Amino acid sequence: MTGNSLAKTPQTVDVAVVGAGIIGASCAFHLARRGVRVAVLESYEGPAMGSSGRSFAGVRAQWTDPVNIRLSWAGIQTYRDFATLHGVDAGYRPLGYLLLVPEDRWAAQLAAVELQRSLGVAVEVLSPEEAQRHASFVPDGIGGCTWGPGDGVVDPHLVTATYLAMARDLGASVSYRREVVSVDRRDGRWELATAQGRVRARQVVNAAGGWAGELAALAGLRVPVRHVRRMVFAGAQGAVERPSPMTIDVASGFFLRGEGARLLLGRANPAEAPGYTTRIDWDWLEHVLASGVRRFPWLAEVPIDPTASWAGTYEITPDHLPFLGAMPGAPGWINACGFSGHGVMQAPAVGRLIAEEAVDGRAHSIDIDALRIERLAETGTRGGTLVF
Ligand SMILES: Cc1cc2nc3c(=O)[nH]c(=O)nc-3n(C[C@H](O)[C@H](O)[C@H](O)COP(=O)(O)OP(=O)(O)OC[C@H]3O[C@@H](n4cnc5c(N)ncnc54)[C@H](O)[C@@H]3O)c2cc1C
Repeated sequence: MTGNSLAKTPQTVDVAVVGAGIIGASCAFHLARRGVRVAVLESYEGPAMGSSGRSFAGVRAQWTDPVNIRLSWAGIQTYRDFATLHGVDAGYRPLGYLLLVPEDRWAAQLAAVELQRSLGVAVEVLSPEEAQRHASFVPDGIGGCTWGPGDGVVDPHLVTATYLAMARDLGASVSYRREVVSVDRRDGRWELATAQGRVRARQVVNAAGGWAGELAALAGLRVPVRHVRRMVFAGAQGAVERPSPMTIDVASGFFLRGEGARLLLGRANPAEAPGYTTRIDWDWLEHVLASGVRRFPWLAEVPIDPTASWAGTYEITPDHLPFLGAMPGAPGWINACGFSGHGVMQAPAVGRLIAEEAVDGRAHSIDIDALRIERLAETGTRGGTLVF
């Protein structure tokens, strides 16, 4: 069949999912499991080639607000039980997350611990001295530490591929090298055009990651999501003897964790301009190491391996919360984007919620009202006026 003949006969499905990252994959699986005919359209030549394949792979339930705790804790529990649920090990390793909290934020952190515990998350409160059993650090200015023993890492590539394979087994079509280049509304359906042909769907799930704003713009919709680079620097293989849990110096934002015999570390650059790039800014490393060595002096002895370091982009929204759920004024358009750096840990819950939104009319297993795009009007962030 030629491209032209394909163009004349659009593929017709119930839901078109745009994006084969971890979010689109989870949405496709959960939709297909509900009996929905799904087509996944992806620009890259394979799954998880956007942010999902460049993440730090961390999962944590230590959040300060109920909806993020619920989404992430549901994700962790799914990853923990993935082999039982889906017959594949998701690579979940509960390394633990250790947060080193400065004195001026300690009271707020204790309130967050109460909230986390009230939602079923096990979190320990440790003095800086007690926390030394997990990581060696200079305790100056630290008010206290919290330890999430169930927090850890997963394998985002494997999870994405598994969700897509399961979706396919349930009848979904998954197509790579199929960038959606235009979106129209015709006869009560969405029509998505790609160079290889068109797809007609009653509903569209916008799981386009940092490109979600561009995809929405094709349909004349405003979904403010932007790419912002994040970098992970890798220590030389074998440079540390003791495996490190994910350890975050909350005051500076510096973080590190072990990955096999390597140390991985980083710190967000608050002045990073939005834009898509996966190039490493080596000038930033000096700032990362300066803040790291102040808290972890032993870091000075760890050489950095440029070949194992990497960069990717966060998909940032004005308030760093995702856009989840139906788009007002655009029947059948559902957003699942803008995770602002937390999509891996939230993907299992998000897929289920988006399937509820599409099939049942409204997500119900977790209250996602705080994440609906309507909040932009309510919080005055329309126009992206908040600082990224
Ligand atoms: C350095 C780094 C560290 C991170 N650490 C963590 C962490 O520890 N824990 C955590 O939970 N998260 C982390 N994240 C964030 C996490 O990776 C993202 O939140 C998550 O991967 C988002 O998944 P996604 O499926 O929405 O986006 P993506 O994986 O980017 O997938 C979107 C897909 O949509 C496709 N697409 C876009 N436009 C179109 C179009 N027009 N047509 C067809 N296809 C299209 C893209 O090609 C892409 O493959 C990190 C990210 C980075 C970069």
